Amino acid sequence: MAVSTCFKCTGHSFELTLFTPIGESKKLTLVQCSQCGTPVGVMDPATGPQIEALKNQIAAIDERLNRIAKALTE
Ligand SMILES: [Zn+2]
Repeated sequence: MAVSTCFKCTGHSFELTLFTPIGESKKLTLVQCSQCGTPVGVMDPATGPQIEALKNQIAAIDERLNRIAKALTE
């Protein structure tokens, strides 16, 4: 696998840090170069529960589709 390289200082080590964007109340997790602090990525911790909710919605749609398919074959 390729080694991640900071585009600014060409460092190879990164760290996670929490930051709050201006005007926002929730914190985001930022991936930054541990040598110069250049941000290389961001993770929103709120996406986890949102994905879980979407999975539940898809499961509910799937169940309804199965019921429709069953009704059509009867
Ligand atoms: Zn760097």
